Amino acid sequence: MVTEVAKEMQAETKPKAEKQTNCLACNKLIKKLKKYYRNGKFYCSKKCWRAFIDKSKAESGAGKK
Ligand SMILES: [Zn+2]
Repeated sequence: MVTEVAKEMQAETKPKAEKQTNCLACNKLIKKLKKYYRNGKFYCSKKCWRAFIDKSKAESGAGKK
């Protein structure tokens, strides 16, 4: 099927997500820091995790309009 081939090609050309190395909240390199893992993402600390959750909540709330 042509459509299936096209789908596969799309999947291959799609840039692979880089391994997360920075905290999503403060953008510090996590490599050297203590990893705080939540919902499939890494943060340097619980504080940053909370900060990111609050931020994403605010963003999704504002973007709904
Ligand atoms: Zn952080």
